[in-house]
Amino acid sequence: MKSNSVKRGRNFLHTPGPTNIPDRILNAMHRPAIDFSGPDFLELAIEIFRDIKPIFRTEGRVFIYTSSGHGAWEAALANVLSPGDKVLVPETGQFSASWTDMARTLSIEADYLTNDWRHGIDPDEVEQKLRDDKQHAIKAVLTVQTDTGTSITSDIPAVRRAIDAANHPALLMVDTIASLGTIDFRMDDWGVDVAVGASQKGLMLPPGLGFTATSEKALRAAEACTMPRNYWDWRNRQDDAHYRWFCGTAPEHLIFGLREAINMVMEEGFDRIFARHARLAGAVRKAVGVWAEAGAIDFNAAVEAERSNSVTTIRVADGYDGDAVRAACRDNFQIALGGGLGQLQGRAFRIGHMGDLNEPMILGCLAGVEAALQVCGIPHGRGGAQSAIDHLAATAASA
Ligand SMILES: *Cc1c(COP(=O)(O)O)cnc(C)c1O
Repeated sequence: MKSNSVKRGRNFLHTPGPTNIPDRILNAMHRPAIDFSGPDFLELAIEIFRDIKPIFRTEGRVFIYTSSGHGAWEAALANVLSPGDKVLVPETGQFSASWTDMARTLSIEADYLTNDWRHGIDPDEVEQKLRDDKQHAIKAVLTVQTDTGTSITSDIPAVRRAIDAANHPALLMVDTIASLGTIDFRMDDWGVDVAVGASQKGLMLPPGLGFTATSEKALRAAEACTMPRNYWDWRNRQDDAHYRWFCGTAPEHLIFGLREAINMVMEEGFDRIFARHARLAGAVRKAVGVWAEAGAIDFNAAVEAERSNSVTTIRVADGYDGDAVRAACRDNFQIALGGGLGQLQGRAFRIGHMGDLNEPMILGCLAGVEAALQVCGIPHGRGGAQSAIDHLAATAASA
């Protein structure tokens, strides 16, 4: 740490993962280790495997890994796809790209439906691809509900309808890592076969847990799947022997935290959680809209309805540096932002607004970002933070 870098007050964490960890979750984790094969932990584990299901809105089995989101990605692929199998991946940004790279590493053939990184999945294009696949070579469609790189949210039920309209048996796989617990996701109602999640975004936990939620059809596919796998294998993890549920020592403290996180989600309720995220995201979009008036700043997501309630990717015009905004925020205002990823590197910055967040936190962030734009000399409409205040005042419950 630099000698002149003494900081006071809270750091404002607006990376799109990890997100703020509430004190309740930190406190739930602040305890000694226990015997993970003793009765207390077993009881908790049984409860957790049951109570994680409603988070995905599923009756199906959910597998819990000690892993990052990338681990859960690999688990999803390795359990239902065999080497040489083909998948269809509509491009949405950095995360559809990375998941595709991973699939190819596993000798899965990926048909990547390219996109401009400014629009969500086009269900008509998916339908056409599947209609053209008369032999049903495509085994799965891999989608990212909210791509955290581009901050684009795609319409997953529309993808389901496209698969059904083409009368195609492909599995529907959805990365919900940046959307679970921030916007609606209904695994069973939407006919999703595999949903991938992680702990450190909408669920407000530290990084370290990956989830795969499964349909009956996905579990059947796992029986026939020949991909070499062991740690990720769903079959081992359904064993009666409890030490197999986590394939090794259980991540106890993350499970203590997850217990509290699920309690918090259930207390607030999905409707209120989603409304809170929509309202705070609305405040961010108001500010960005004002900043954009000077022509050097723009939303990455071109279509208003596709702008994520979890994260906002903000483009800066050629000749300006997105990373400079991030550095100015970090160095001057104790705000941590995300940077531009992949083809947006240096050309964008990202404000994360998911998880344990309230109005003054988002206003503090927006005011700091606006100040950073001034520091960086990036032309922007003034009063973005004010328009966020106006939005929050106008949408507040009346006194
Ligand atoms: C964060 C994220 C990932 C990767 O999660 P890690 O825990 O960093 O491996 C994958 N997909 C999406 C949509 C994400 O937001």
